[in-house]
Amino acid sequence: MLHKKSHIERDEEKFVFKADNSSTPIFGSLESDVLLPRDKIGQKMMDPRIAYQLVADEMMHDGNPRYNLCTFVQTYMEEEARKIMLDSMATNAIDKSEYPQTTEIEKRCVNIIANLWNADPKEDYMGTSTVGSSEACMLGGMAMKFRWRKRAQELGIDTAKKKPNLIVGSGYQVVWKKFCVYWDIELREIPMTDRNNLTLDPKKAIELCDDYTIGIVPIMGITYTGMFDDIVTLDKHLSAYNQSAKISVPIHVDAASGGLYLPFVNPDLAWDFRLKNVVSISTSGHKYGLIYPGIGWVIWRDKEFLPEELIFKVAYLGDFEPTFQINFSRSGSQIWAQYYCFVRWGFEGYKAVHAKTRDVGLFLAKGIKSLGLFDMINEGQNIPIICWAMSAKAKEEKQWDLYDLADHLRFNGWQVPAYTLPANLQEVSVMRIVVRADQSMEQMSLFLKDIKQAIRELDAARIVRSKCPTQEGKVVPVGYTH
Ligand SMILES: *Cc1c(COP(=O)(O)O)cnc(C)c1O
Repeated sequence: MLHKKSHIERDEEKFVFKADNSSTPIFGSLESDVLLPRDKIGQKMMDPRIAYQLVADEMMHDGNPRYNLCTFVQTYMEEEARKIMLDSMATNAIDKSEYPQTTEIEKRCVNIIANLWNADPKEDYMGTSTVGSSEACMLGGMAMKFRWRKRAQELGIDTAKKKPNLIVGSGYQVVWKKFCVYWDIELREIPMTDRNNLTLDPKKAIELCDDYTIGIVPIMGITYTGMFDDIVTLDKHLSAYNQSAKISVPIHVDAASGGLYLPFVNPDLAWDFRLKNVVSISTSGHKYGLIYPGIGWVIWRDKEFLPEELIFKVAYLGDFEPTFQINFSRSGSQIWAQYYCFVRWGFEGYKAVHAKTRDVGLFLAKGIKSLGLFDMINEGQNIPIICWAMSAKAKEEKQWDLYDLADHLRFNGWQVPAYTLPANLQEVSVMRIVVRADQSMEQMSLFLKDIKQAIRELDAARIVRSKCPTQEGKVVPVGYTH
């Protein structure tokens, strides 16, 4: 339909044209003179050159991912890593017999990560790749639920009497809410109570435990602020609880962002399998594992913690290989990329990349702090995540807020989110930047220049959104006048 219309228009204008051929310029072609299909597939074929250009151009509307300072997810990989991904794109990670070497590479990655997380050589760890931390967390949660149920039944606890529960701090990532909804589990949330303590309170976590608790999930890199829960203290209190409890409670660590950062930068910090009650850990390969989106990992310290019912056997080299993923078919390319990065960088390389990222984060935090308007919540010492709120004084003096600032930063292409903290600190708005490997000192100095400029402009603006209530008193977005 759309094709036809443009042909007709050209006919009417008495254009002399020939059909497109290989020398027709892309943007002079009839085929590019159309709108692309939005709801119904087009009737005709399109030249791949032209189709590529038109579809690739749609991506421009997403902005520049490297200027996206909100995301934890990797936005840059070296050329050879991209090539490895392209080369392995057609493999199917689940097909163990067709792609035995992809299976072998996945196992090597599991071994490498288990070692980075200090798996005890006396135990028999098990692990798998996943699509991301979400799938990895689901698996960790399911294993805890199934194991709890089996032990509860053995102990004569009436498992039908109450829903099982899971304990998390209110800074949890949405996957834990999903897990609890999907698997019919009560989410016991420990609210953040004061601005100076934004992590899970180990004492309160223990107070919430009962015979129906499947586990506690501390987070290494709380999504909102980048802070770490104190797992050492939690583990200590939990050991005491478990000594007298009818049914002992395990820990699953959600280390989506910290899991492949800490072993290189802060190997002395104990948060992993060095702690007795930590039975499983999940991470995102596509966060500080430095791989493009689409990979996560989960490891159990011993096969005891991964109930048999969750393991399925698939054919592999004349034998059977256990699998325990939710997803079935997916490309092996992310697995190959993860292995490539381990080979390419080694321990020293990961350490160098992360240490540089950390330096850039500290530099950025110092720059933001020196503006004199903000209370720093995270200055990037633990992980390169920088988080700040407006100071009480700035709130009083300024006509604008962090949402206005986020809008202004967009003028230069920077995407920086402003949002409120979770329960019970919903009245506190913060801004957060996740510093990633591909952000340089140079880029962040440009960002600091732009944030200063944005503040100057906001200070001079006559109307700002936050101060422009509607008739009902609701805040609505309005433009700026200078
Ligand atoms: C990002 C994140 C997740 C979800 O990870 P995906 O890899 O995006 O599925 C879960 N938990 C925490 C703490 C996270 O930061």
